[in-house]
Parts: sequence; structure tokens; C-alpha cells
Amino acid sequence: SHPYTQALLAASPKPDPEMATERIALKGDIPSPISPPSGCVFRTRCPHAIEACAQTVPPLEEISAGHYSACIRKELLSNTAVARP
Ligand code: SF4
Repeated sequence: SHPYTQALLAASPKPDPEMATERIALKGDIPSPISPPSGCVFRTRCPHAIEACAQTVPPLEEISAGHYSACIRKELLSNTAVARP
């Protein structure tokens, strides 16, 4: 459900071309781990970042049973758990 997870899943190869999803290309440089950005550390590459993302470290919250995400933009987070094989 997290925007970073969405980008990772969109980039993974799909064995069935009919299951292919639109790729999410992350732009920007990967931040330095010794000098991470303020607020959400993903904000410099997140396609959904807003000004508030620089002010607040998003808390890790349970969004559905057993599934957690850290993002202040709750409207972006899916409540649907990803089925695991
Ligand atoms: S808190 Fe902001 S920058 Fe971080 S993942 Fe959510 S929308 Fe993107």
C-alpha cells in the first residue's frame, strides 16, 4: 500500500503479459543515508509528496489486519492486503 512498495511491485517482472501493470518510474536521486531528508525519507522520490511530508516523520500504522504502512497521506493507502502465494 505504501507508495514505495507500489513502485517496487510495479517494477517487478510479470510472468503473464496480461497481468502487466503500469510501471511507476521514481525520479530523483536516492538520498544519502548519512544525511537523510527531513520528514518522510522517501519524500525526495515520492510521486505523491506534499509539503507536509517534509515536516513529519510518518508513523508506522496498521492499515489492515497485520499490514502496516508509514505515510501521512492515508488516502493513497490501499486497505486491501496483498495476497501471498
Ligand atoms: S509521507 Fe509523503 S513522501 Fe512519504 S510516502 Fe507518503 S506521500 Fe510519499
